[in-house]
Amino acid sequence: TLFSTLDDKTEVREYFNNEGFNRWNKIYSDSDEVNKVQLDIRNGHDQTIQKILNWIRDDGDIAGKTVCDCGCGVGSLAIPLAQMGAKVSASDISDAMATEAAARAKAMGISNAKFYTSDLESVTGKYNTVTCVDVAIHYPTEKMAEMVGHLCSLAEDRVLISFAPKTWYYELLKKIGELFPGPSKTTRAYLHEEEVVRKALEKAGFKVTREEMTGTSFYFSRLLEARRV
Ligand code: SAM
Repeated sequence: TLFSTLDDKTEVREYFNNEGFNRWNKIYSDSDEVNKVQLDIRNGHDQTIQKILNWIRDDGDIAGKTVCDCGCGVGSLAIPLAQMGAKVSASDISDAMATEAAARAKAMGISNAKFYTSDLESVTGKYNTVTCVDVAIHYPTEKMAEMVGHLCSLAEDRVLISFAPKTWYYELLKKIGELFPGPSKTTRAYLHEEEVVRKALEKAGFKVTREEMTGTSFYFSRLLEARRV
C-alpha cells in the first residue's frame, strides 16, 4: 500500500543517515573495525564492483561518457568510474552517504563527479549509463518493476543493476537471519525475482547483454547489464 511504501522509504533514509551510515561506511572502507560477517560482505561487494569495472574496462569507452549512479553510497563505484574519465552524477537518499562520497572524491582530487542527496525516483536527466548497485534490497517487491522502468528512462545506452535474487535458498537464509536478528538494527530486506527485473528491462526496450552472480557467505548479488535495443 501507499503507506507501507512511505514507511519503507522513511525508514531506509533514517537508517542510512544514522546507524546504517556508520555500519556501511565501515564496511565500504578498509577500516579494521569490522566483524567477520561485515568483512565477508565487504569482500562480496568488492567483487561486484570489480566485475562492473572489468566490463567497463573491457569496453574501453567510458571516458567522456555520462554516468548516473543511483543509491551511490560512499561512492564505491562512482569514484573509480570518475577516475576512468566518466562524467559522474551520483545520488543517494541518505545525505550522510552522499556527503561522505563527495568528501572521498574531493580527497582524491576528483572533479568530474558530483554527488547529491536524492531518492532515485526523483532523479531526472539522460545519461549514457545508469547504475544502481545493491540498492534494490531496500525496495518493496511491488515497486521493483516501476523502479527498473525509471532507471531505464534515464539511460540512453545502458543500465547496470544488481539485486539479491529471490531463490528458495536465499529465501531460506533470509528466514534464518530473521530468526536470529543479532544486536544491530537494520531495515527490511527484499529479495527480487529475476524474471520481474528482466521483464521490466524488456518492457523499457532493453536487452540483457551481460550477467554475473556474486555470492559469499553473507552477501549475494545478481548483476545484469542491459542495453537499449
Ligand atoms: N550502490 C552503493 C554501492 O554499491 O557501494 C551503495 C549500496 S548500499 C547497500 C545501499 C544504498 O542505497 C544506501 O546508501 C542507501 O542510502 C541507498 N538507498 C536506499 N534506497 C534508496 C532510494 N530509494 N533512492 C536512493 N538511494 C537509496
